[in-house]
Amino acid sequence: MPLSEAQLGELLSQIRQRLAVLEEEIARKLGQASEEFSAFERIGDSGDLSSILVEGEVEMSEALRDIDEWRGLRGALRRSEEGTYGVCIDCGVEIPFERLRATPMALRCVDCQVRSERREGSHHSTL
Ligand SMILES: [Zn+2]
Repeated sequence: MPLSEAQLGELLSQIRQRLAVLEEEIARKLGQASEEFSAFERIGDSGDLSSILVEGEVEMSEALRDIDEWRGLRGALRRSEEGTYGVCIDCGVEIPFERLRATPMALRCVDCQVRSERREGSHHSTL
């Protein structure tokens, strides 16, 4: 059954809220990472460089994960504009509303998601 207008509206507002949160998070994490990297430059070789560097890398990798999610959600918005949102990109089946509510950026139905993760081998997705 295709998504109703109300269901699509709910998902889209969920996506937009999440995007706004992610944008703040990404800006904050990138800001912190760069602050830590500039602290690294200030300290030169007199301080504890390794801990600063590691902290900066943690923020950076978290920011990259957020950016991935942000991209996925932007993609979902784009698909909603194209009218292809909520349709499995592999088999064309309609993705159940409950799945989309749990994972608004889902591209595939559960079956295809499992197949695609098997195909990609060690690459694990939380979708
Ligand atoms: Zn499918």
